[in-house]
Amino acid sequence: MKNVLITGGAGFIGANFILRYLDLHKDTRVINLDKLTYAGDTERLSAIEGNDRYRFIQGDICDHSAVEEAFRAGRDAGIDTVVHFAAESHVDRSIEDAGPFESTNVRGTVMLLEAARKHGTDRFVHISTDEVYGELGKDGFFTEETPFAPNSPYSASKASGDLFVQAYRHTYGLDTVTIRPSNNYGPWQYPEKLIPVVVHKALDNKPVPVYAQGLNVREWLFVEDCADGIMGLMASGRAGESYNIGSGHERRNIDVVKGILSILDKPESLIEYVKDRPGHDFRYSLDSGKLEKETGWKASTPFEQGLERTVKWYVDNQPWWRKFVDSGKEPS
Ligand code: NAD
Repeated sequence: MKNVLITGGAGFIGANFILRYLDLHKDTRVINLDKLTYAGDTERLSAIEGNDRYRFIQGDICDHSAVEEAFRAGRDAGIDTVVHFAAESHVDRSIEDAGPFESTNVRGTVMLLEAARKHGTDRFVHISTDEVYGELGKDGFFTEETPFAPNSPYSASKASGDLFVQAYRHTYGLDTVTIRPSNNYGPWQYPEKLIPVVVHKALDNKPVPVYAQGLNVREWLFVEDCADGIMGLMASGRAGESYNIGSGHERRNIDVVKGILSILDKPESLIEYVKDRPGHDFRYSLDSGKLEKETGWKASTPFEQGLERTVKWYVDNQPWWRKFVDSGKEPS
């Protein structure tokens, strides 16, 4: 049995990854270390409750004893691979308070790297983001060679984490692979992010908030495609290398919003343009050629199909996301 430690596996991408990974890898045990912040929820993993190849540990990646417990949970064989998803992930929150971003995304990452080094872990897979590269104008794309130019406290903290990963590779020879995904979407995303917010507001016939004129462009990657790309790199990514992972499906935010309203048969008059986010990056776009060439992976979900599936999922799973919305805390 192979032992894989996932951090942040109760979050959006981590949970989708675990569900898919356990299903496809019958020879693997997964240990999920997650603090269960506001964004973490074990209900995302209810389908594997009781699975004897899955163990959940509630703990903070900044807490040495929790990290040690997770590394010891790999039984005699220890932890073969770490896949590090845990992060504070919402740009707007990082603008309100950068503290938790520095703590989890930087110090937490260092705590894990140190444990992986000490325990002789075979491979450390670090989940970074396209936002470390800064922003683009109308043209061009980021390659893995693009220099870092993070703009938000979130992206600055993720870029710092990346640099520590590079340092542990260079200094200690730790086997690391860094993955930089574009905007993910799909089931189980916390209802503070664009697509679930729009579905919620539209279903309730409330104004749908859109920053500025909605002209910012993102590259939308269906979460299952992202999970498959990560699995490919776990197996065959080259040690010390970084890989972009995007879909090629660039859309302006306003077009995503209009697409959701159309699927829900709601009028565009619900759209309400609101004051822009400070320092809002205009456009991200990734060249994912390196990953495609080396692993054969290619995003397989067309955006319109993925959006339709996603919107339907939020319509069918309202009790899940409404429990956050009804708490009065989300979204503002
Ligand atoms: P998320 O916010 O949905 O989930 C984060 C998870 O990490 C939660 O379960 C939370 O409880 C856990 N966590 C937070 N702080 C922790 C700590 N100190 N100790 C242990 N667990 C902690 O995030 P997501 O959207 O699933 O993103 C996962 C990763 O992918 C992050 O590293 C993020 O930066 C990166 N990423 C996300 C996207 C995207 O579009 N969602 C795009 C590119 C990169």
